[in-house]
Amino acid sequence: MENCFICRKHNGLEAAPPGGYIYEDKHWMVCHAPAKLGPLGTLFIESKRHFLDYAGMTDEESVSLGNVMKKIYAALRLHTNAERIYQVTLMDGVPHFHSWLVPRRKDDAERGMKFLARDDSCNEEDAIELANKLREAMK
Ligand SMILES: [Zn+2]
Repeated sequence: MENCFICRKHNGLEAAPPGGYIYEDKHWMVCHAPAKLGPLGTLFIESKRHFLDYAGMTDEESVSLGNVMKKIYAALRLHTNAERIYQVTLMDGVPHFHSWLVPRRKDDAERGMKFLARDDSCNEEDAIELANKLREAMK
């Protein structure tokens, strides 16, 4: 879809994510979120195909999503001090399937929705460095 932000990003028509894409396969692309949008380790998993939500997935896409999520969770556990990894799927900003994966560390004061509601950000260079580590971990 030519006017979809995520489709445009996949085609190189929008700014590349910090450190570039971390993971790509037949159905999915994973990247670090822009530094101003969340704490260090906030990732997006995005479908390659343009559809809204789980109901729009093929059977193959819905099965493969679980396998990719398993890899992402293991990589984030390895390289962040995440006690929990939150998964948030909204599609209000861009109607193209994507989930936010947000590591919540043990020393974070808030939990759950209060944690997610924080206006959090991280350092761009840290995000690039972590993206490179996660890319290795997800190979
Ligand atoms: Zn799209």
